[in-house]
Amino acid sequence: MARFTLPRDIYYGKDSLDVLKTMKGTKAIVVVGGGSMKRFGFLDRVVNNLKEAGMEVSLFENVEPDPSVETVMRGAQAMAEFQPDVIVAMGGGSPIDAAKAMWAFYEYPEITFEDLITPFSFPELRQKAKFVAIPSTSGTATEVTAFAVITDYSKGIKYPLADFNITPDVAIVDPEIAETMPPKLTAHTGMDALTHAIEAYVSTLHSPFTDPLALQAIEMVFDYLPASFRGNMDARDEMHLAQCLAGMAFSNALLGIVHSMAHKTGAAFSTGHIPHGCANAIYLPYVIKFNAKNTEAKARYAEIARRMGLDGTSQDALINSLCSKIDCFNKQMGIPKTLQEFGIVEEEFKEKLATIAENAVADACTGSNPRAITPAEMEKLFTCTYYGTEVDF
Ligand code: FE
Repeated sequence: MARFTLPRDIYYGKDSLDVLKTMKGTKAIVVVGGGSMKRFGFLDRVVNNLKEAGMEVSLFENVEPDPSVETVMRGAQAMAEFQPDVIVAMGGGSPIDAAKAMWAFYEYPEITFEDLITPFSFPELRQKAKFVAIPSTSGTATEVTAFAVITDYSKGIKYPLADFNITPDVAIVDPEIAETMPPKLTAHTGMDALTHAIEAYVSTLHSPFTDPLALQAIEMVFDYLPASFRGNMDARDEMHLAQCLAGMAFSNALLGIVHSMAHKTGAAFSTGHIPHGCANAIYLPYVIKFNAKNTEAKARYAEIARRMGLDGTSQDALINSLCSKIDCFNKQMGIPKTLQEFGIVEEEFKEKLATIAENAVADACTGSNPRAITPAEMEKLFTCTYYGTEVDF
């Protein structure tokens, strides 16, 4: 038996924030990040709309990027005091992810993070509140997914929470909010969305429900990401929908080792953070070459290329076209082709390689990758992504 779960409602298009005016509830808490939603006036609109719906509104502001356990606990405490029946999370991935975890601790104060990290083991939520998510970036799609990532800085661990209980009840995908993204963020989040769709399409858990969502998302990213990056707001609006479709696919089909590699290298080097979408964009073509040694995955990558109208008649030629297309997108948007080009120091890379490879193999996303990988193979794969060498194993 398999399961396919999405939010009950997805409101999309310009002015979809207005749906909040008709939302049922008595008390709403709004969870937001660092201030851009306030600066651009979206926070005021959300608060005013909720008040118009007759709700008392409280704010939980300043959720940091890569939200911490402490922030989650403070938010859960604020919820315990205010007793909301509606939780509205708004912003990039971080405030929405944090609010999902706050929600669990608000409903079950006695629970611990250790209880929650076993995938798909959450207690039944929605006893106290329902959850509305409003994304401001076009990438993570956390507004429609069953996932949240919370960081325990004292232990240096990221808790990847996964359960359909934290799939929001309502997603509001209003493209006007994403129009505020700067170009670099547009590039990185757009490539994150493309990676979600491609990994979901070849995942071992892909299904007839997730495939069409993944393919449509890939097609829209190919059609609209370059123009969105250049500042065309019609294209930006389409990308906001495309990333959501990709999220609907991967929330159910899960991901693969591009994400395993990105998760374990994002904060691994002293030269600075590698943004999530940028890491995915670098790794994606190498992983396609690695996974394509698996016959089934090979056929599915070739199918993506064929459906997107890329050149080639043989599977190998089609897959080369797909990788060239990704290389070309990265080049246009200033994303490096290798970790070396990104600025990772060779000595540090070599020193940390074995640990990073081992951690990446152990990542939660490795399980649904279409080709199994050993730590030794992962080391070789990382080495290819460092120097830009051919993946031939
Ligand atoms: Fe991602």
